[in-house]
Amino acid sequence: MTDEEKQGALVIREPDRKPSARTALKKEEQQVYLAAAYCPRGDNLMIEGAPSFDGRPGICLEVSDGKSEGIVTLSPLHGDHRKVGMEFPPGTVLTLRCPVCHVELDPIAPCTCSPDGMFVALYTVPKRSAQNFAGVCRVWGCLRSFTKDSGRILSEFRPEPQK
Ligand SMILES: [Zn+2]
Ligand SMILES: [Zn+2]
Repeated sequence: MTDEEKQGALVIREPDRKPSARTALKKEEQQVYLAAAYCPRGDNLMIEGAPSFDGRPGICLEVSDGKSEGIVTLSPLHGDHRKVGMEFPPGTVLTLRCPVCHVELDPIAPCTCSPDGMFVALYTVPKRSAQNFAGVCRVWGCLRSFTKDSGRILSEFRPEPQK
């Protein structure tokens, strides 16, 4: 990964708006984070004993590139790209699953990073919802992500445009 790819900006679309109280999407100061994240069947992906990030529990995903399989824990802080666990070469297309029930996470929208780029949903309510989720790309090394609250984009992380 180049330095250019590491840079980017977390943009909060509506800086003064608070996420709706009934979801696990939260905001403190200008930091958006997930207090819980759910698979399509309602399992909480914040598994006890998993690594935490700045005191907040991480989001556990079962990942596979078709050959090897393991667990990656993502930071729940939006725009924080720390991960713990498996490593893959940048650009690897991964299958992301719930580590509890092993169901594949729902693809939600294509990502422009590559032809295989696809956002999958980490729901912020304990069921399938087109209104409340965080979207993360299944391509390893892609930093694009966004959060949706009550159907509106609340925050998004996008790499700086290439000059
Ligand atoms: Zn599950
Ligand atoms: Zn992507």
